[in-house]
Amino acid sequence: VRRSSPSSIGGAAKSDDSVSGRVRVAVRLRPRNDEELEADADFADCVELQPELKRLKLRKNNWDSDTYEFDEVLTEFSSQKRVYEVVAKPVVESVLDGYNGTVMAYGQTGTGKTHTLGRLGDEDTSARGIMVRAMEDILAEMTPGTDSISVSYLQIYMETIQDLLNPANNNIAIAEDPKTGDVSLPGASLVEVRDQQSFVELLRLGEAHRFAANTKLNTESSRSHAILMVHVKKSVLGDSPYENDNPYQSVNNFKPPVIRTGKLFLVDLAGSERIHKSGSEGHTLEEAKSINLSLSALGKCINALAENSAHVPVRDSKLTRLLRDSFGGSARTSLIVTIGPSPRHRAETASTILFGQRAMKVENMLKIKEEFDYKSLSRRLDIQLDKLIAENER
Ligand code: ADP
Ligand code: MG
Repeated sequence: VRRSSPSSIGGAAKSDDSVSGRVRVAVRLRPRNDEELEADADFADCVELQPELKRLKLRKNNWDSDTYEFDEVLTEFSSQKRVYEVVAKPVVESVLDGYNGTVMAYGQTGTGKTHTLGRLGDEDTSARGIMVRAMEDILAEMTPGTDSISVSYLQIYMETIQDLLNPANNNIAIAEDPKTGDVSLPGASLVEVRDQQSFVELLRLGEAHRFAANTKLNTESSRSHAILMVHVKKSVLGDSPYENDNPYQSVNNFKPPVIRTGKLFLVDLAGSERIHKSGSEGHTLEEAKSINLSLSALGKCINALAENSAHVPVRDSKLTRLLRDSFGGSARTSLIVTIGPSPRHRAETASTILFGQRAMKVENMLKIKEEFDYKSLSRRLDIQLDKLIAENER
């Protein structure tokens, strides 16, 4: 049911050609690791999944549990392929149609965010994560000559945006078009992708830079957000913008060529666990606050959107500013919340589940982004014209 005033992270983009939707949220349980398997006899998992009912039960104690419903419940047996298909594929498809989209992984460190999004699967192609699978699907839809893909790969750490494809670029500013509200990063490397292999090499390069940057700053990557931004440009024959009054209708039902531009964000968020004691990781209180700022701002925005609040505090952090035209609102959004089975982390697991539940209340208003493809139009008109001239000369 569409509510009366759907809003995006950056304010509603309401128009007649928009479609309503909702942020889709999947929960994924990672299998027990070796340590947890050894302790097998000592504890039961803190959650019980009912995937066919799309339900998750979080144990409160030996006899009682709370039940939550998600759009999708992915078990420890769910394959990477299935995860891609239910979580990311619909978003990738709508980006190809000219919408913005985001797939985001949220959860405690060690629960499988990077496994879900970033696994390259060198050793085993079935292990490939969402980033690699998404690019494969996008590349398959590209027409050489007219269409193009370009990517930026970034990290946000302590409210600084760093370029993972060029480490010298370590303080990138966000630009916002005051008219369209489009968000961009003019200072970030934007690399054109032509094939899968060079894309995987880019991801590998980004990973290496991320590791080096974090070693230098003496931080763990779990404290930063890794963001892959994919720009897709596609020339298609659009619907007539004139409906019943199409000036091209007379020319063989001419459909105007349009360029659709979609922006896909794949976001591996920082670990959602709280930094309990700021001193314990060698950070001052100020640093600890700054480390968590983007993540807590995201939580606040989701709460505000879920409650249809008039004020969404999108300006409070780099992450929310960057995602403002691509999360909720005028974008297709999927969130995957990752959890582990251990009852030791029950409190963090409960907080992850609640984050996911709130995000399920966020509405989308989809708006397609296209502009007239003048180049292609003039080419097509030239062909038509040549034909008419040839016919006349006969
Ligand atoms: P995070 O990025 O959330 O900190 P990782 O993705 O690094 O967590 O996962 C932690 C460990 O658990 C890694 O060794 C990873 O390979 C493993 N793991 C996570 N999820 C799964 C899964 N669904 N199946 C198998 N192994 C997993
Ligand atoms: Mg990780």
